[in-house]
Amino acid sequence: MITPQEGRTTVLDGRASAERVRAEVAGQVQALVARTGRRPGLATILVGDDPASQVYVSNKRRACAAVGIRDLHRLLPADIAESEAAAVLDELAADDEVTGILLQLPLPEHLDRRDLLERIPAEKDVDGLTVASAGLLAQGRDGLRPCTPAGVLRLLDDYEIPLRGAEVVVVGRSELVGRPLAQMLLQRDATVTVCHSRTRDLAEVCRRADVVIAAAGVPRLLSASAVRPGAVVVDVGIHREQGGLCGDVDHDAVIDIAGHLTPVPGGVGPMTIAMLLANTVRAARLQFG
Ligand code: NAD
Repeated sequence: MITPQEGRTTVLDGRASAERVRAEVAGQVQALVARTGRRPGLATILVGDDPASQVYVSNKRRACAAVGIRDLHRLLPADIAESEAAAVLDELAADDEVTGILLQLPLPEHLDRRDLLERIPAEKDVDGLTVASAGLLAQGRDGLRPCTPAGVLRLLDDYEIPLRGAEVVVVGRSELVGRPLAQMLLQRDATVTVCHSRTRDLAEVCRRADVVIAAAGVPRLLSASAVRPGAVVVDVGIHREQGGLCGDVDHDAVIDIAGHLTPVPGGVGPMTIAMLLANTVRAARLQFG
């Protein structure tokens, strides 16, 4: 457990938690190499030269290398034909050296994200975004889980925040965050409510929660009226504004109301890459036997 900081609201330190995950993964990689003589390898695939995606992918590659995972990156031209991109994915899927495949999104408009993702075998799907991985999660079966929801749960676990029987409100129902997170919380025996853009009285629903998780992609959507005193508030949102980064929660408004709060930056963000590493070593362990 991480010792809470002084003051009324405990700030959940995602950087510290992510560092712990990375150290664990580094140890697991070493043990795996010692036991099997094989090293996990992550193929990140970047199509084109979108600047934000370039930064995300280079961060992922650097994080992999730092824990001993092989960096098997592929850069594909922005105008690549769908059939050629599919062939690259098929080749990586068949390559034993590649234990994890991550197709960086978004893709150029002429490429079909769903068709390409489906070429990633479930056991190499370290982003947890294929239909097979989503199906395993929906049925509560073992599988690789999307990294951001997995990071949220790991952060809550590190602070020993109880989820069994807890009222948890997830704001957002995206394929990437809200929806899988709600299912993972159900698996942890939470009582889960999912809010979205058509929810009638968002603040009223959120106020019922022991744990509120904001993943709506709307800057400062949740304010004081949405937080019950002492509630745990997790902010998944990231928005770049003139004054710096902000999240989906108005931090100044809730700081003395929430019992726990994740900062932006330094909360959920660092957990996402850490969980990608954890997924990559887990995938390798399953493949190496
Ligand atoms: P998305 O746009 O795909 O989904 C947003 C969801 O929020 C939708 O389901 C929508 O119904 C709901 N929503 C939108 N407006 C709402 C409103 N006014 N009230 C209630 N619900 C509303 O976004 P996403 O990919 O799930 O990402 C959400 C946020 O999390 C974004 O800010 C994104 O940048 C951030 N994000 C952060 C990380 C990380 O590593 N920290 C990872 C992924 C996404």
